Amino acid sequence: MEKLCPTCNAKVSDNYNYCPVCGEPLTALAKQREELKLSNAGYEKLNELAAQSKDPAVMDAIKKMMFDK
Ligand SMILES: [Zn+2]
Repeated sequence: MEKLCPTCNAKVSDNYNYCPVCGEPLTALAKQREELKLSNAGYEKLNELAAQSKDPAVMDAIKKMMFDK
């Protein structure tokens, strides 16, 4: 079985989670993984900022960034 990559229209075998041409995540699992990666990276960065800052206004801004979507 083959499917078409929605981004570059390459024909991709069904057992690929990612498009081998452009790297687009093709399965729900791969998409979830990408989202998790992004949110983890953001979360770590914000934690770092929060740890460096003792300013409560900055802490508030960081909390807003984390929880307001
Ligand atoms: Zn592609």
